[in-house]
Amino acid sequence: MVRSLKEYEVENNKSFLWPEGILIALLALGGVFSLAFMMLLRPNASEAQSRQSIDIKDVSANVGTQHRIENLKAAMLTSWQQEAQTKGLGYPLAPRFQGAIIEEAKLTQGEKVIALTFDDGPWPQSTEQVLDILKSNNIKGTFFVVGQNLKNYPELGKQIVAEGHVIANHTWHHWYHFLNPQAAAFEIDRTEDLIYQVTGVKTNLFRPPGGFLHNGLAAYAKGQKYAVVMWSADSTDYKQPPVPKLIDNVIKDSKPGGIVLMHDGGGNRSKTIQALPEIISNFRKQGYRFVTVPEILEMEDADKKLLANKKQ
Ligand SMILES: [Zn+2]
Repeated sequence: MVRSLKEYEVENNKSFLWPEGILIALLALGGVFSLAFMMLLRPNASEAQSRQSIDIKDVSANVGTQHRIENLKAAMLTSWQQEAQTKGLGYPLAPRFQGAIIEEAKLTQGEKVIALTFDDGPWPQSTEQVLDILKSNNIKGTFFVVGQNLKNYPELGKQIVAEGHVIANHTWHHWYHFLNPQAAAFEIDRTEDLIYQVTGVKTNLFRPPGGFLHNGLAAYAKGQKYAVVMWSADSTDYKQPPVPKLIDNVIKDSKPGGIVLMHDGGGNRSKTIQALPEIISNFRKQGYRFVTVPEILEMEDADKKLLANKKQ
């Protein structure tokens, strides 16, 4: 759009409250510089002369462009901040889950959703195989990683997050024995820090190794406002059962809002890898949808809020 000098002046006086004189002087100066510049470039003065009016309009257009650039910059900053929020600041956790122990999501509508969780990675081969199966089925899972494994295989940790899965804290050493508060803090904080360094995610989900809730780790995690995430269906894949048994373990204990325990690391996971596609298709046949742990908790939170509003 080409605007007249007068329009430009009025508009800018409104928005910037510049004194009219200064504005005109600036525009005139701009015009003179443009003219001088044009004359340097084009020895043909008359042609430069004929372009003078256009040049003044160009000044106006340039200011418009400046505005557009500023707007674009602001938009880019906003989108970067949003991205940082999803990638860098972690997953929002409703206050009701901070410091709580969770075995499943309690969904009042019985929505057929289930959260697949994978522990003890990242692990060479098996983590990638799990990721590939999830990707080909368009499913997002939740990975409780062991700090020392993440240190050894940071690229796999990055891949987990890059492919849209949730990464969470499963301590540094995966110890079962009693830990004093300092040792528990080390186990959890060091893993938290490494997850952040490697992936940019600030996690607030913790799963105690072996599901032990009384050796000092869960107590420390609760104090740090972590959600202590257990499970409602255990594949017992760590015992390496025959594949049909592994599948059955998952399916028989699963219900809407359930959290399934499996392992992508910590040993030979070939049975888990074999069972996973079958488990997925079985759930799908039953009409289940797959969600991450933060998503399933968000659903429970929304359910509870709805219920509270109805009661009022
Ligand atoms: Zn574990």
